[in-house]
Formats: sequence, structure tokens, C-alpha cells
Amino acid sequence: MNEHSTTLLVLGGGPGGYVAALRAARLGVPTVLVEGQALGGTCLNIGCIPSKALIHVAERLEQARALAADSPLGIRSGTPTLEIAQAVRWKDGIVKRLTGGVGALLKKAGVRVVQGHGQIVDGKTVDVTDAEGRPHRLRCEHLLLATGSLPVELPGLPFGGRVISSTQALSPAALPRRLVVVGAGYIGLELGIAYRKLGAEVAIVEATERVLPAYDEELTRPLRAALERQGVVLHLGCSVQGISGDGAAVRVRTPMADEFALPADQVLVAAGRRPNTSGFGLESLLLDMNGRAVKIDDRCRTSMRNVHAIGDLTGEPMLAHRAMAQGEMVAELIAGHARHWVPAAIPAICFTDPEVVVVGQAPDAAAQSGVDAISASFPFSANGRALTLEAPEGFVRVVARRDNHLVLGWQAVGRGVSELAASFAQSLEMGVRLEDVGGTIHAHPTLGEAVQEAALRALGRALHI
Ligand code: FAD
Ligand code: NAD
Repeated sequence: MNEHSTTLLVLGGGPGGYVAALRAARLGVPTVLVEGQALGGTCLNIGCIPSKALIHVAERLEQARALAADSPLGIRSGTPTLEIAQAVRWKDGIVKRLTGGVGALLKKAGVRVVQGHGQIVDGKTVDVTDAEGRPHRLRCEHLLLATGSLPVELPGLPFGGRVISSTQALSPAALPRRLVVVGAGYIGLELGIAYRKLGAEVAIVEATERVLPAYDEELTRPLRAALERQGVVLHLGCSVQGISGDGAAVRVRTPMADEFALPADQVLVAAGRRPNTSGFGLESLLLDMNGRAVKIDDRCRTSMRNVHAIGDLTGEPMLAHRAMAQGEMVAELIAGHARHWVPAAIPAICFTDPEVVVVGQAPDAAAQSGVDAISASFPFSANGRALTLEAPEGFVRVVARRDNHLVLGWQAVGRGVSELAASFAQSLEMGVRLEDVGGTIHAHPTLGEAVQEAALRALGRALHI
């Protein structure tokens, strides 16, 4: 067996693991990264990037269709068609470019990448059989666990055949005529809308009474209206019981406990993801757990000395930018820097149509935490740029303390609002007050003016409403 010792061993090359390895190596920490599948992990290969690529294809097709119909813009064009195999190749090209870039960055930084499934022996030893079948024993001073998450499988709907996860949905060989989506969370809505725009009949079955149930009613109302306009059929408060006897439908139970059959050529189960904690010897470490996730402290330390954990493995929010920020922090800690985890907020974006952005506290969360807060919204229907983009739906909302006007949170729903997340997050990190945002000159005409106007409205002096 090939034996190798290093300072830092990172298990898992997703956004958490590869960023940690990159930062550590650049800080002079000898680093080995073990990846069982593809560098870039879920995010680059089967998550964030391919889903946004597919959403872009769907949006382009929808725009082209709109032009072929009676466009109010006066543009006329022929009826578009979609060659799905070419769309998937285009998406795969972006993934390849980005994952290749990660490999090149790691190489340049001096990270030794071992391709193979890692098996934990103890807190300082991992065995790996590489792609050529050679066994390696890797010893380390610090072990960083970054093994990510896996889709939740539902009883009665095991993956296989017609029942698919987001991974298969991102590489369709052909489009189903009727797609049933289970779950109206991030994945179900992002991909459900994309498939609808690509031409499938889409029905979404959601156990709660709301779409995006983690967000408040006011914020999701424009999204709900848009789903109806787009022709996505919603079955809210319903649960899926299984597949019908002939396999051509999903059995759905309503809130009244009636059951009906929902015809489906394909069923996308998007009912959440669970931390990837089994199949690689993690149990043998007997780490403290937080539910199904590995428990960590404010330095991403687990209950075992010099064993760290980051990303989806450590639970919600399962977002790539959180994993990256944790990875960077752990690398700096191992390099001897003083760091701990105190982000003012972790932005969350649902790339639906319209998009939804949440950064910091919403009004209900502020109230629950006992803060006396004020909130105000500014609608895109009163924003010139939104009108020129044919996107008058939605709004920007700000939440601030009543006493000193410290901004506690931002929420927005509307087309293109994902790009406002940067200014929202910066304003919270910098501890801005409503007066700071209201007094900043925002370029005209931009969607960002709605941010300034929301702050002014909270101060009782909005200009354009
Ligand atoms: P992962 O990216 O899951 O990486 C873990 C890696 O560890 C994998 O490459 C795996 O092969 C490897 N591994 C596991 N066990 C072993 C082992 N024993 N040996 C060797 N290697 C191992 N997040 C966002 O912020 N924005 C988005 O727009 C977004 N869109 C998404 C869309 C979809 C369809 C999905 C599924 C997820 C999306 N996410 C998004 C979530 C995001 O992908 C994850 O939060 C992120 O990838 C987590 O990073 P990670 O490093 O913790 O784990
Ligand atoms: P999710 O937690 O966002 O949504 C799951 C939904 O499924 C919930 O609304 C839940 O009520 C519903 N549900 C659960 N069991 C059900 C059942 N038996 N029948 C009907 N409905 C059921 O999970 P997801 O959409 O699978 O996404 C997983 C994770 O991936 C997210 O939590 C997020 O962290 C990450 N992600 C992020 C993005 C992004 O940042 N844009 C995009 C995709 C995924």
C-alpha cells in the first residue's frame, strides 16, 4: 500500500472541499484532496451550475416563443424548436470548463488530488483506492470532512425508472410530456418552471399549503401567481403515496384524505437533501451529530480534535457559498489565522421566474426574535427599469430596527433580483442604517433604485410612490 503523510487531508472536492484545499495550499499548508467522483462536487456537476444553464435554455426558448406569438415589442420571428441533446451538450460544456478550471487551480496551488473513494480508518487516516485500482493510505494532522449531501428518497417512490432526482432531470435524453414534481422547494420550483418552459406539462405536489414554505406569504405571492400564469399546476397540502399499479401515474392524497391519480411520464422527487454521512467510515469516528448532520462549532470543529466538517454535511442552509466560506475559514484556521464563523447573513436565492432573494431577517423572524422592527416594500411596478424589462411584478422589502434604523434584512421577488443579493449582503455585513441606503445615490434607471426607495419608504419619504 502506498503511504503518504500530509498536514491537511480534505475528503470531498465540492465547493467546500476544493476552496478549503486551494486556500490552505496557497497559505503554505501541505494539502491532499480526495474526490470520489468529479471535482466541483454537486454544485458544479449536478447542482447550481447545470441547473442555471438549463434554466437559461428554458428562458431563451420561452422568449423566442413569445416573439413568435404576438409580441407587444413589435418583434416578429418564426416558431422556435428545441434540440434538447444540443442544449445538454452546451450545459455540459460549461460544467467541463468550470471543473477543469478547478483542477487547474488546485494543481497550480500545489494540492495533491487523489481521485478515488475515501474510507476513513481513524481521525488521522484515510484509505483510498485510486482510479487505477492502486490502494493508498493517507495520514494527516487535520482531517476536513466535506462529503456533501444526497437527495432524499421517499418511501413508495424509490429512484429508478420514471422516478428521477435532480441529477437525471439536469441531463434529459428527451423531455417528458407530463412531469410530476414532488416538492415545491428550491429544486422543485427551479426545475419545474424550467421544464414547463421547455414544453412539458408540469404538476407540482407539495406537502405544505405553500410554495417555498420557508419564506413568508407576501414574498411568495408573486411567484405563486407567476406559476399559475405559466401553467404549472399546483397540488398544495398534498402528499404522494406512490406509483399507480400500471406505473403511469402518481397516487396523491389530498388534505381531505381523498386519493387521486396524477398521470406522469416522469416523476422528479425534490423533497430535500440529506447530509452524506454513510458509506465511508464516518460512523467509526463517533462524532456528535446534529440530527442527520455532523455537529460543528463556530470554527467548524467537530467533537473530535483536528477533525473539521463543512458544507452540506453540516446541515442547513445547504448552499454552495456557505460551504465555500466555511472551507476558506477552516483553511485559514489550520494555517494559524484567528477566525470564527460570524457572518451577518447568508444570502439565499431561488432562481425561479420571478426570482426570490432572502438576506437576513424577514419581518416575521425579526418579530419572533423579540426585536421591534419596521419594514417597507417598494414595488417594481413603480420602477422604470423594471417596466422597460417587461418585469413589473414583485418588490424589494427592507426590515430594520425601529429604534436606530439598523437594517436587519432584505427580501426581494422579481425578475433579475438575484443580482441584488450582493448589495443586500454587503449592507448587512457593514451594519448600514436605513438613512445610509436612502442617502446613497443609486444609478438610474436600475432595479437597484427599488432598494433605495424601500429604505426611504421605511423612513416615510419614498419618492416614487
Ligand atoms: P458537495 O458539492 O456535495 O461535494 C461533496 C463531494 O464529496 C462530492 O464531489 C462527492 O463526490 C465527494 N465525496 C463524498 N464522499 C466521498 C468519499 N468518501 N470519498 C471521496 N469523495 C467523496 N446551492 C447554491 O448556493 N446555489 C444554487 O443555485 C444551488 N443550486 C442547486 C441545484 C441543485 C439541483 C442541487 C442538487 C443543489 C444546488 N445547490 C445550490 C446546493 C449546492 O450544490 C450545495 O450546497 C453544495 O454543492 C455543497 O457543497 P459541499 O462541498 O458541501 O458538497
Ligand atoms: P427544499 O427543502 O428546498 O424543498 C423540499 C420541499 O419538498 C419542501 O417544500 C417540502 O415541504 C416538500 N416535501 C417534502 N416531502 C414531501 C412529500 N413527501 N410530498 C410532497 N412534498 C414534500 O429541498 P430541495 O428543493 O430538494 O433542495 C435541497 C437543497 O438544495 C435546498 O435546501 C437548498 O439548500 C439546495 N438548493 C439550493 C438552490 C439555490 O440556492 N438556488 C437550488 C437548488 C437546491
